[in-house]
Parts: sequence; structure tokens; C-alpha cells
Amino acid sequence: MRLLSLLLIVALGILPIQAQLKSPSQFFGYELGSEFTRHYEVVDYFEHVASSNKNQVKLEYYGKTNERRDLMIAVISSEENVKNLESIRNNNLANIGITDGDKTKNNPAIVWLSYNVHGNEASSTEASMLTIYKLLTEKQEWLKNTIVIIDPCLNPDGRDRYVNWFNETASKPYNTSRQASEHSEPWPGGRPNHYLFDLNRDWAWATQIETQTRIKVYNKWMPHIHVDFHEQGINEPYYFAPAAEPFHEIITDWQRDFQIEIGKNNAKYFDENGWLYFTRERFDLFYPSYGDTYPTYMGAIGMTYEQAGHGMAGLGILNDEGVELTLVDRLTHHTTSGLATVEMAHKNAEKLNEEFAKFFNNKNFKYKSYILQGSKDKIDRLKSLLLQHGIKFGSPKNIKVTGYKYSTGTQGSINTSASDLVVSTNQPKGNMVKVLFEPNAKLSDSLTYDITAWSIPYAHGLEAIAATQEIEHFEVLERLYIEPLKDAYGYINKWNDLEDAKFLSALLQANIRVRFNEKPLIQKGITYQPGSLIITKGDNQKHKDFVNKLDSIAQEYRRQLSPISSGFSDVTPDIGSPDIKLINQPKIALLSGDGTSSLSFGELWHFFEKQLNFQVTVIHTNHFRNVNWSDFNVLVMPSGYYGSVLTEDNLKSLKDWISKGGKVVAIDGAMRAFTNDDSFGLQYKTKEETEKTPNLTTYANQERANTNQMITGAIFKTTVDATHPLAFGYGDQYFTLKLGNTNYKLLDSGYNVAYIDNNTKPFSGFAGSEAIKNLNQTMIFGEQPYGRGSLIYLSDNPMFRSFWENGKLFLINAIFFVNNNSFTL
Ligand SMILES: [Zn+2]
Repeated sequence: MRLLSLLLIVALGILPIQAQLKSPSQFFGYELGSEFTRHYEVVDYFEHVASSNKNQVKLEYYGKTNERRDLMIAVISSEENVKNLESIRNNNLANIGITDGDKTKNNPAIVWLSYNVHGNEASSTEASMLTIYKLLTEKQEWLKNTIVIIDPCLNPDGRDRYVNWFNETASKPYNTSRQASEHSEPWPGGRPNHYLFDLNRDWAWATQIETQTRIKVYNKWMPHIHVDFHEQGINEPYYFAPAAEPFHEIITDWQRDFQIEIGKNNAKYFDENGWLYFTRERFDLFYPSYGDTYPTYMGAIGMTYEQAGHGMAGLGILNDEGVELTLVDRLTHHTTSGLATVEMAHKNAEKLNEEFAKFFNNKNFKYKSYILQGSKDKIDRLKSLLLQHGIKFGSPKNIKVTGYKYSTGTQGSINTSASDLVVSTNQPKGNMVKVLFEPNAKLSDSLTYDITAWSIPYAHGLEAIAATQEIEHFEVLERLYIEPLKDAYGYINKWNDLEDAKFLSALLQANIRVRFNEKPLIQKGITYQPGSLIITKGDNQKHKDFVNKLDSIAQEYRRQLSPISSGFSDVTPDIGSPDIKLINQPKIALLSGDGTSSLSFGELWHFFEKQLNFQVTVIHTNHFRNVNWSDFNVLVMPSGYYGSVLTEDNLKSLKDWISKGGKVVAIDGAMRAFTNDDSFGLQYKTKEETEKTPNLTTYANQERANTNQMITGAIFKTTVDATHPLAFGYGDQYFTLKLGNTNYKLLDSGYNVAYIDNNTKPFSGFAGSEAIKNLNQTMIFGEQPYGRGSLIYLSDNPMFRSFWENGKLFLINAIFFVNNNSFTL
């Protein structure tokens, strides 16, 4: 007893006062991989690691998810490096010209490991804990010249959705039969985040809170290697770099080569263990919003590692070959590849630093400047996106700029002013500027399954010139002052942006009555385009202190309203004309659940809740039968398969409701539900029978031959009927992102509001030759009147990943303007 106390005292005297580092299994009291660890427990473990290794581990909480879970990184290195963390970070930024400061040759390598961006690919977060433990207990040598940044879970809301579901569903012991309920997740599954966004499509657009907060800290560090850990189907053992073609052309030889080196080092460990894997297939490097491409375009060796598993795998499952795949296997493989990658960084730290710096020194760009022109709202939106990525911009002088003109797809010019934007490739992040802005990214192989075009001028609805010479630009100080409202007969707000719609949404919620014009309104020589918001004092007499109330909302939404002194216009219509319509309050039902696409539903949910701030009632398709339709005047149907939802009875009640004045907004796949009934006016446009030829393509070439028929995401010009309320705020052409090859004929009896004319070709991106032919004379957006109501068809989903900013107003118009007077249910 006495001896033991003595030993304890001695031990306490020698050891630093911090807890002994425990392995994850010791810490949790179960073998890692025998249970799924919930997010708060993961956070607990990282806190334990940090508190027991204060001199080697720093935690940074960088944000909170929508459901208030912690987002965090752990920065791990040697004591020496951790002492100098800020100067190492600054040196790295100085090396690539982002900050001023001396360049240094012997900065440590920086490796960033991102786990579990897809919530139900749940093994990687478990691996993150074993990885940090092994780094600190077995791999101290590597940390002498390497900084490892671990983000244990990029998507805690999605992962806990999966883990909680699994824990409440699974048998004990777990059941390896694929038929057991623990292997089939219910809608929407744990893959996406709270708003059901795929966070591995969101890096560049940063529409989600997880991405926004992460890229801030990512850009503060700018790692040299980034790994994004995933899981794939249970029959595909393991995938690691090198990636598959196509590679974006800015990817350097060094980036290609070093991926191969890393892949070979992973292979060495996998070979030693006799594990199966594949490389160079399926996962390409093109679309910029992934966890491998975004880091790649920011100079890193960006890679995806995919373990067999996924939401189906649970704690153990028999695959098609009758082999049991366990969570223990899955996390062991991810730990092995993660550590092997850190080893490669450690062995090549100097070279990594050197090559990383070269990437940011690229001067070899065809286009030296991009000049963007558009409304202040659009320019401001773009500026805030650029700021998130640390991309610099400025304003041009009043000059004429010539170059590739986006709206025509030819050489052209525009006259610039200080309200335009210049983004130059002559800056450290010039490569990313090229990727995001160039009119048409060069595709080394058309066999890719993501979109092949995203060029920001089209997505944001901006006129743009890509210039081969650098355009001088300067910083402008913004005038943020909005003139307060004075007493007047009424006020008018223009209508051409989501920002105007947010303002309308706020007005309606404040019970302010708003009108809009269907024809141009001319007062005192000023023309207000159709869709302008008209707010009169006379309409709002019940509000005490109306002008101040309106002014405070206008200030909040940064709207400069134009006062009008009379209801009498220069030419008709006057303010009291039937062509100036009152906006009836939309009461919106939004379908979710089985049959709907969770991504499409999530985009709409996020849009109404976080962007437009307009309340909708979300209704699960299982309850369709019980809906009291008279409570609603708008039904928004996300893309999906409605075969089992729109039963004969349900369809009958839906038709009844529409004919009384209900309005259906059917997006993309939802339109299929209306093709079986002639009264909806909707018909597929398919390839003519006579064009069909026997298939003589060999088996081996089949996949490639199919690219003829393929459109996975390309930009096309559409002709717009700008007089239709669905198109208010747009001009007579609109660039659409075409996401597939399902096409619809022009409507016979409805309105074709945006459509593709003859002889079309993509303005940007890849489309197969057969697929292009079939696009001629197809409807993109349209309205089919039905009784007193309407069906509004949006065949190219304008809300796709929420990054096609310029399409959002079509949805808003559909809700607020189209057939708005019908709401008499
Ligand atoms: Zn994944």
C-alpha cells in the first residue's frame, strides 16, 4: 500500500499533468467498429485526445450545423511545430503569394483528412479516431515535418441521422442478411445534410453552412494534400487515387504524378494485407465542387478514397461473393490509407512545398481577365461568393472591353463602368478563377457522370467578356445608403432578382398589400417593367405609420423604392387598372418523402426556408390522400417518381383542386406524372422510330457509344417569352443547365415560356450528338392552364444544387405571379 502510494507520487512528479491518452476502444469501453459512435461521443474523444496531448493537438471548432452539432478540426503535429503553428500557417500562405512575407523552403507538409462528408458512409469517422490515435502513439517520427489536420465529420447531422436510425433498428448481434431491415435505410437516408444537400457537390458553391464554415478554415490553411473519405457499394472493395479521366486541364503533371506515388504507397499496405482495391476508374477530376477537385484546383493533391460499405452495410453484411464485410474491416482500411498518405507527405515535405508554390505561380492563361456586368444584386452575390474562396476582384474604368462574349458565344465587346466587376487570373488563385469562369472547360474525355458545365456568368445570369489581356481594375468603396421613404401615393420596386423576392416575402408576411404590373408601367417618363412591385398607401390604410413600416423593410432588404405621386400614368395602365394585379398570398404545400427526390425536395426546402424566408407546409407523400386541399393554392412537386403517389383517387382530387384554381409547380421528374393524361398537355419528345438503326456497337465499346445519347449537364440558350408572368424579370433569352435527355414537346394549348429552338448546340459543356438533335423544339419552362388553375412545368430544375442563381426567379414567378388571380378556392 505504502509502496504503491510512493510509486504514485513519483509517477505524478515525473509525468506532465495530463490524462493518459486512451485508444478509442479504451475510451468508449467497446471495440472500435463493434458499434457506431454518435457525433457527440466523437467530439468527446477528440477533446480527450487534445487534453491528453496539449502540446501536440489543437482543436478548432469552426462552426455548428443546422441541428447545432459541432464542426471541428484537430491539428496534429510535433510539439515543436505546434508551438509555431501560426507562423507555419502564415509561411504556407506567403509561399503561395496569398499573404506578404518571406518564402521559406523548409515548412512542414500539410495534410488534411476529411471524413464522412456523406453521413451514411459511416466508417470513416470511426477511422478518424483510430488515425489520430495511431499518429500520436506510433507515428511521431512523421509529425516532425508534417501537420495533419483531421476533420472527423463534415456532415454530423447526416451521420447521426444514419447512426441513430441504425442503433434503433439493428438486431443484436447484427444480422448479415441483406434482407434484414438494418440494411435498408428509409427516405431520405443519412447521406445528405439537414437540408438534404449533397455536401460533396457543394464545395465551390458553398450554399450550405457546413461548407461555408469549412472553406473559411480550409482557405486559412491551404493544405498540400487533401483526402476525402467515402464509401461505395458493398461489392466494390476499395478505390484510391490515381483518379480516372477526365482530368481538368489545369491539373499539373506534378499533381498527376504524385497521386500515382500516393496510390502506390497505399497499394503497398493493401498488398501486404492481401486486400482488394482498384484505381484509375470511375472517379474523375472535373466538376469543381467535390472534396477532391476543389482542393486540387486550390493546388493540393486532392483525392477521394472509397471503401466498400455505405448505408446498406451496417455492422456487417454478406456481399454478392458471400464474404462478410464488417465495420471493423471498413475502418481498418480507411485508417491504413489515411496513414499511408501522411507517410508520403512526411517523405516528400520539401518537394510538396516547392510544387505547391509553383501551382500558384501559373501565368499561362488564355484569358487574363473576366469582366462581369449585371444588376447590383447579381454583382454583390458574386462578390460574396468570391470572398468565400479568397478570390480577389475589382472594378474597371469606363472603357470598351473586347473578347469572348458569353451571351452570343462569339467575339464581342461591352462598355464597362465602375459598377462592373473584373476578376483576373493574375492572382494566386488564378487557377480557380479559370475553372469557375472560363466559357467552356476543356474535357479530355466525355465519359463523366457529373455536369460538364458550370461557368459562373451563365449560372449567375451575368453578361461577361473573357479577355485575353489583363484589364486594369481598382477597388471601389460602396455607397450603402438607401434613401429613406417620403410620403407618396405609392412606391415601386423593380423585379429582377431573388433579393426583390425576399423583399416581397417580407412585405407579405407583414400583411402589406402589394400589386404587380403585367404590362410596362410608365410614370413621369420612367418605365417600370412587368413584375414590378407596386405598394400604394391606399391599399395599406389599415397600417398605422405605414410609410415608416415600409421604409424599415426596404432598408433591411436594401431596396431603393421609387415614389409615385399619382395613380395616373403617362399611358395606360394606371395604377387602378385590371392589368395591375394584387398579389394574393400563396399558401404553399411542398411534397416530401417516398417518391420525391430527396435532393430536389431539400433544394426547395432550403430555398423557401433559408433564402426566400417564406413559410411552406411540407407534406409527406404518404399523407397525400388526407390533405385538405382547400388550405392551399400552390402545390410544389419536387422531382421524383409519383407513380405510387398519384393513384387514381389522388389524381382525381388533384385535378379537381386545379380546375377550381389550384396551381401545381412540377419540377423535372415530377412532370412525368402528367404525361399519361392528355388533359395536361404534356408529351415526351423522343427519337423518331425511323431514325432507329440496329445496334452494332461491340460490347466493349457500349458505354462509350452511349455518350452519343448523353447530356449530363451542359448549358443551352433558350428563347424566352418575357411577356409571360413566369418570365418577369428576364430578358428574351435565358441560359439553362440541361441535366438529362428527357425532353418535352412544345405545348399545344399552353404557354411555352422558355424553349429551345432549332439548330441548338451547347454554349458550354458536353452533349452527345444524338441528344442534341432531340433538343430542337422542346419546352423548358411552360404553363398549361387547366380549368381556373394551372400546371407550371419547370423541366430543367432551376434549383439544382442551388447554384444556378439565375434560374431561381422562374420558380418565384411561378408562385407569386402566374395565374395569381385564380386563388379563389
Ligand atoms: Zn460518398
